[in-house]
Amino acid sequence: MTVTVALERVTRRFGPVEAVRDVSFTLPPGEIVALVGHNGAGKTTLMKLMLGLVRPSEGAVRVLGEDPAAGEFAARRRLGFLPESVSFNGALTGRETLAFYARLKGETPARAFALLDRVGLGAAALRRVGTYSKGMRQRLGLAQALLGAPRLLLLDEPTTGLDPALRQGFYEILQELRAGGATVLLSSHALTELEGEAERVLIMNRGRLVANGSLEELRRLARLPVRIRVTG
Ligand code: ATP
Repeated sequence: MTVTVALERVTRRFGPVEAVRDVSFTLPPGEIVALVGHNGAGKTTLMKLMLGLVRPSEGAVRVLGEDPAAGEFAARRRLGFLPESVSFNGALTGRETLAFYARLKGETPARAFALLDRVGLGAAALRRVGTYSKGMRQRLGLAQALLGAPRLLLLDEPTTGLDPALRQGFYEILQELRAGGATVLLSSHALTELEGEAERVLIMNRGRLVANGSLEELRRLARLPVRIRVTG
């Protein structure tokens, strides 16, 4: 089975800062994976490496079999990304906003509008985004990230500020996507927030990948009489 993402001994420096240090892992298709770590652990940098927005200083990144930082990264349209703080033009309606992103991804407006319904914004589609609540903007962000039927969906702290009901709706959409074979990577400061949703957990600490396994495996390790150093 071809993996969706493969990182091999990847390091990324910004001047003297090693944002990501010697990280290797693979992500298979059809899995929801949690990426957990404190502020500055390197989560966003990992996502940017997968999106081809930054290049590794050392090591190799492959996404859907290609180098995402290469000029002719053919799979670019099969990636969805919801940044940590998504901002939209408040003067446009939800429908206009999604139509704009649909054009960028080569999607039909009809499918874009169906996505607005899917994230529960159908009734607000003709309202200006400037009048949307934070949760509604977050759902518009998710609809934008879902355009193009992504094979890899990267969500940077997507559920921060969502109430439990909205969070549940959010996860239902992700489970559907996973069932269709997509890989979903979602980052969070707190593992508890993602518990029960992710099949696998990657834990980052000061740029290093310090754990990679199922929740069950990590619990088992935590019970062993061995102290796991996570101080980098
Ligand atoms: P947060 O939870 O706060 O978003 P994070 O885990 O996503 O944190 P990153 O944003 O990847 O962490 O940052 C990792 C480290 O790299 C931090 O020390 C950050 O200051 C540094 N860093 C990230 N991007 C840059 C950049 N473009 N220039 C300089 N330093 C950077």
